[in-house]
Amino acid sequence: MNTPSENIINSIRAQFPALGISVGKHKLVYLDNTATSQTPQRVVEAIDRAYYNTKANVHRGVHTLSQQMTLLQEEAREKARAFINAPSVQEIIFTRGTTEAINLVASCIGRDWPDGAEVIVTEMEHHSNIVPWQLLSRPGREIKLRVVPTDEHGVLDMNTYRNLFNSNTAMVAATHVSNVLGTVNPVKEIAAEARAHGVPVLIDGAQAISHRAVDVQDIGADFYAFSAHKMYGPTGVGILYGRRDLLEQMPPYQGGGEMVGHVTFQKTTYAELPFKFEAGTPEFTAIAALSQAIDFINETGYDLINAQEEYLLQYTTGQMLKRVPGLRLFGTAPGKDAIISFLIGRAHHYDTGLLLDKLGIAVRTGHHCAQPLMQALGVEGVVRASFAVYNTRAEADYFVDALCRIAPMLQ
Ligand code: PLP
Repeated sequence: MNTPSENIINSIRAQFPALGISVGKHKLVYLDNTATSQTPQRVVEAIDRAYYNTKANVHRGVHTLSQQMTLLQEEAREKARAFINAPSVQEIIFTRGTTEAINLVASCIGRDWPDGAEVIVTEMEHHSNIVPWQLLSRPGREIKLRVVPTDEHGVLDMNTYRNLFNSNTAMVAATHVSNVLGTVNPVKEIAAEARAHGVPVLIDGAQAISHRAVDVQDIGADFYAFSAHKMYGPTGVGILYGRRDLLEQMPPYQGGGEMVGHVTFQKTTYAELPFKFEAGTPEFTAIAALSQAIDFINETGYDLINAQEEYLLQYTTGQMLKRVPGLRLFGTAPGKDAIISFLIGRAHHYDTGLLLDKLGIAVRTGHHCAQPLMQALGVEGVVRASFAVYNTRAEADYFVDALCRIAPMLQ
């Protein structure tokens, strides 16, 4: 697809009220989309509607409001299913986010793993796909992480990956897209290799879902996790896709209302999928609004989203390389997503972020919840600018101009 016209991008921007606000004396330039995206008005209005018109607890009432709210929640589940091409709504579990989704899988699937069980992860994982596996270790049972390294561009070493499997391998847990490097990992190949060894695979889709169409069946993922707030949706909602046979074998994650069949003081039976994994009152007002975020992406279209983000990535990277003195880029994998991590000379990432903020530019600085990757890169942290479909070339120019302006102060 050709680069979308300014008119098209402006009509998309108009749907995001927050993009019009000012930060100090400057208009906001929001380049922190990897951490969370801004939210279109239709999503916020859906939350309002749920609070004003249909707020009643789901799945528990015979009364009209409860039934309406339940319908909205279950419509969102069906939308999420279709969005990632999962075979059944029973395989779509609502969580608080990617983090909770991964914790759920780790603690349930790993509950009875033996001492010495191994989980293969990549060097570029977010902490939320590292720590939940480490938490499975306890006195007398050590769970080991085996790590797939990356090359100098941020591309996974697939030969090493293939050689990490052994009789102790219990799980593969890999990110689809790196939140620091922007690398898009070959998740289909990763899943196929895991399947060949009879090992389940979890894909962390937190950074993939807002940029590309995800088909969990085509990928061959046993589990796929993502967060609504990173895909133009509400906070407090995540989705875990899990293969039905694996979910059925797994014990529940938490106990409470909704997840039970029958309870006595002697014994409890559990609800059918997906409710077995949804203890307690879900974030039903936000879940109802998730439908609007999915509609926004479907109506905008991944072709257009990709075309705009790819244009901004290439243009901004080119301009930065040409104009910003002392620039160090981290993550140059072919086909990477629109995430630019960098440092300027010896400047501290935090100082760069602060000076950009003074000019109205929101970027993220620090280790980005990927400290092992920072160790591999030999840095303490980086500055990260990340684009969404609503960002413009004018914003990219303003950002690069700002870097040129502050660079001399930072050397
Ligand atoms: N995985 C990746 C790759 C991420 O980038 C993030 C958040 O930045 C997460 C997991 C955690 O997502 P959440 O905080 O929404 O649970």
